[in-house]
Amino acid sequence: MRVVLLGTAASGGFPRWNCACVRCDAARDGKLPARGPECAAVTGNSRDWWLLNASPDIRAQLTAAPALWPGPRHTPVRGVLLTDAEPDHVSGLAVLRDAARLKTYAAPPVLAALAPARAGLDRHAPWEWADSLTEGGFVLAGGLVVTAHPVPGKPPAYVPGRSSDRRWVTVYRIEDLATGRVLVYAPRVSAWSGLLEDLVADADGVVLDGTHFAADETGDTGRHLPVSGPTGSLTALARHPGVRRIYTHLADSNPLLDPTTTARAQISEAGAEVLPDGTEFAL
Ligand SMILES: [Zn+2]
Repeated sequence: MRVVLLGTAASGGFPRWNCACVRCDAARDGKLPARGPECAAVTGNSRDWWLLNASPDIRAQLTAAPALWPGPRHTPVRGVLLTDAEPDHVSGLAVLRDAARLKTYAAPPVLAALAPARAGLDRHAPWEWADSLTEGGFVLAGGLVVTAHPVPGKPPAYVPGRSSDRRWVTVYRIEDLATGRVLVYAPRVSAWSGLLEDLVADADGVVLDGTHFAADETGDTGRHLPVSGPTGSLTALARHPGVRRIYTHLADSNPLLDPTTTARAQISEAGAEVLPDGTEFAL
């Protein structure tokens, strides 16, 4: 299985267009590596690629990833697996609108929230829309078998009213049928759980929500599991030293964006990684 990290920043990318914080300024000055909104791609056979989320920067992200360039006749991108309905995860679908027969998987409330956008996209080129939570999972072209697992999370702000649906956010387990290798893609996680513990224990690699290094980094607490602290993800990941552990979805408040920080040294020492956009790795 090959994986490309197309984007590794939280909502808005890094630098954010309307932010003049120290780190965003440093990224604008070229002193820290810029990052696009979180998004990745995966393949089991190097011919059929599947996007994990579709960021608003997807055009630039695909242009920067030679493995995903179109061949003489068509694109190797077969479809998209959405983890949720957040604008930074779905707005890239509009960029992909002229590709025929793309197949997009998402949980039922996400598909419902996207109904108006889907109607518009289907008028450009008919797509297939599928329930990611279908019983027993699903098989992707290229020999990947996928199961989606709901984790606690709220609907995006553009969805009106209150929702009692508990399937707004999902984590994907992707297994290469030929090799048995497993990737867990979990860019949005609000708490560690028995489910995550089991998924990671059984995986060869995990790409995990690293939005905030510390719980009190911003006023926005509770939406994302912090990296550090006694209940942080780094402590949980330490129980799985044999698994490749990569953080993504980094907010501009996160010191992990700066390779010279003690935060970065701390995760390296623990065996976890922060990688630049465009990084490809094999599992
Ligand atoms: Zn900033």
